Amino acid sequence: MNCPQCDQEMADVVSPAGEHVWICSDCGQWLDGTDLNAMLLRANLPGVASLGGKRAPDEATGTCSTCRVDLARLTHRDGASYELCEDCGWIFLPLDPPAAEDFEAAHARLLQTVRGFLGKKPGASR
Ligand SMILES: [Zn+2]
Ligand SMILES: [Zn+2]
Repeated sequence: MNCPQCDQEMADVVSPAGEHVWICSDCGQWLDGTDLNAMLLRANLPGVASLGGKRAPDEATGTCSTCRVDLARLTHRDGASYELCEDCGWIFLPLDPPAAEDFEAAHARLLQTVRGFLGKKPGASR
């Protein structure tokens, strides 16, 4: 699968529970919304629907690797954003390099990013 942002081929890492995280070494992580939801719930975080953000209608976004439709970009007050395919529910989390290389690192990064979206401090417990 190719990155929805830069079209480069992504690395696929898989969790012990079978969830996939596709990693672009240049720009971020691309995930099935259902898999992301399962990982968030397991970490005692609210699900994907709670990621929030305001829709930025005029911004250029990536294109879904599967559906070939433009992604919707959702932006938070502090400028953090993610992109969503409204057709298939996949989610792209832009992350600065260096990219994670295994599932554990990818998982830690995505939880940190999601906690940022939810207004929690990285590493803070509930
Ligand atoms: Zn990329
Ligand atoms: Zn799609």
